[in-house]
Amino acid sequence: MTHGITVISGPAGVGKGTVVQLLRQAHPEVWVSLSATTRPPRPGEVDGQHYVFLSDEEFDHLIDTDGLLEWAVVHGRHRYGTPAAPVQEAAAAGRPVILEIDLQGARQVRERLPDAHFIFLSPPDWTTLVGRLEGRGTESSDQVARRLETARVELAAAEEFDEVIVNDQLGTTLDKLVSFLGLQPAMFAKDGC
Ligand code: 5GP
Repeated sequence: MTHGITVISGPAGVGKGTVVQLLRQAHPEVWVSLSATTRPPRPGEVDGQHYVFLSDEEFDHLIDTDGLLEWAVVHGRHRYGTPAAPVQEAAAAGRPVILEIDLQGARQVRERLPDAHFIFLSPPDWTTLVGRLEGRGTESSDQVARRLETARVELAAAEEFDEVIVNDQLGTTLDKLVSFLGLQPAMFAKDGC
C-alpha cells in the first residue's frame, strides 16, 4: 500500500510514542496528527507540541462544531480527540498521515474513513508491558493499574487491525512500519536502533 491515512494504536507502554517520533525523524514528509486533550500537561509537556491542552468547555465546543474526526474518554478519565481539519488538509496535500490514537478512536475512524489503514502495535508479552508501564515512572500506581486494565481490552481487539506489529526490537518495528506505509526504507534495524 502507499500513504493515505494510517491509524497506529496499541496499549499504553507499548512504545507508540517512540516509534512515531523516530519515524517522523527519518521521514519528515510524514505528517503526525496533534491531538487535543482535557488531560493536564505532564511536567515537560508543551501545549501545541505534545497535545493541544483544552478545558472541558473548549473540548465540548470542538465536539459541538463537528471539529473532531474522532474522540474518546481514555483510561476512564480524560477526553482525547483528533482535530479533523488538519488531517483533511495534510491528506489533501498528499502527505502520509499518522494518527496515534486509542482503540475506541480507531473504531470511529474506521466508520468515518473506511479507506484508512490500521496498525496495532503489540508488546512481546504481558510481563514486558507491565514492566514498561511501571518503569516509566510518569503515572501513579492507580493510573498504572487503570492503564493495564485498558491494555487487556485493547490487546483482545488486535485482530480488528490490518496489521499487528510486535514491538520487540525497535529497529525491526520501524522497518516493518516503513514498509507498511510504502515509504523509502530507512533500515532502522541495521543501524542498531
Ligand atoms: P497519554 O495520556 O499517555 O498521553 O495518552 C493516553 C492514550 O491516549 C494513548 O494510548 C493514546 O493512544 C491515546 N490518544 C492520544 N491522542 C488521542 C486522540 O486524539 N484520540 C484518541 N481516541 N486517543 C488518543
